[in-house]
Amino acid sequence: MAFDITRRKSRQIHIGSVAVGGEAPVSVQSMTTTDTADVEATVAQIARLEAAGCEIVRVAVPNPEAAKAIGRIKNEIAIPLIADIHFNWRLAVAAMEAGADGLRINPGNIGGREKTLNVIDCARHHKVAIRIGVNSGSVEKDLLKKHSGPTPRAMVESALRNIAIFEAANFFDIKLSLKASDVARTVESYRLIAAACDYPLHVGVTEAGGLFPGLVKSSLGIGMLLAEGIGDTIRVSLTRDPVEEIRAGFEILKAVNRRHVGPDIISCPTCGRCGIDLFAIVEQVERHALAMRAPVKIAVMGCVVNGPGEAAEADVGIAGGRGEGVLFKKGKIVKTIPEANLVKNLLAEMDKLETNWGKK
Ligand code: SF4
Repeated sequence: MAFDITRRKSRQIHIGSVAVGGEAPVSVQSMTTTDTADVEATVAQIARLEAAGCEIVRVAVPNPEAAKAIGRIKNEIAIPLIADIHFNWRLAVAAMEAGADGLRINPGNIGGREKTLNVIDCARHHKVAIRIGVNSGSVEKDLLKKHSGPTPRAMVESALRNIAIFEAANFFDIKLSLKASDVARTVESYRLIAAACDYPLHVGVTEAGGLFPGLVKSSLGIGMLLAEGIGDTIRVSLTRDPVEEIRAGFEILKAVNRRHVGPDIISCPTCGRCGIDLFAIVEQVERHALAMRAPVKIAVMGCVVNGPGEAAEADVGIAGGRGEGVLFKKGKIVKTIPEANLVKNLLAEMDKLETNWGKK
């Protein structure tokens, strides 16, 4: 089967209750956009992320108030929380003391070896895993000079240099990310680091942009790597509501046949044979599918002539006609329905599939 590629063997670490690496499913994560110190707003956004299937959430910790808020946020959420730290090792310590399950630091800007060692000691004490997050924008000056810029080799050398600090301190609960904002450098950096070590990899294309460019770049970058067996947890970066990042993350996993969570929706682009408002119907079906976890195939097709046949793999689907349409299962038409009730019938069938899947 396409993309049926052996996954890179990585060590396994834990972010709270979620295993990352090894045989663990590739997890989908996101980052809040709220002021972390605003506990109410942050918890509300995390609740929406959880409902969309988010498995690990990251929050920015730019000041002591944000670090302190972590304890109260943790009390209100069910998924593991990672504290994102830049520049200030004391904030990393404060976040772990407040109960963070994981830490993301960029050792390139945390202030040198001694400060990194302070963070490592605290992480060991609290059993917190750390992501070493190398970004193309924060590669150390000497490496930029050596490699004539933030090239994949410069990013990998930066990661390896930092890994050495952790390993020398006997700390191995780490995962890595090497993100650039362009697809080519990101993919090449991950390929190189994947071959150079067995730490789990957090994969993403950083600052990928708004919905359209962000989805294209992330799908390509993350998708290519996953299709090569590289990646243990993913984050799609979008300048958008982070719930869309979760949605996109699961779509990418489905597309590369790595993990199937929620329905796969098949819909035709429509053509002159289409007799219904398929664009609006697909939107409605997609919205309904957001709350589902059953890995089923749903088809929404424009015409009865070709729809059921073209979507023969679908567990259930509808195809439009003039004034009426059909409901079909695995390519076979099971009933004809007036157009006004077409969507209602499909949504009811989707609910049945979800309920039956939940009973398995
Ligand atoms: Fe056109 Fe029908 Fe195919 Fe849709 S299913 S693209 S309406 S022929």
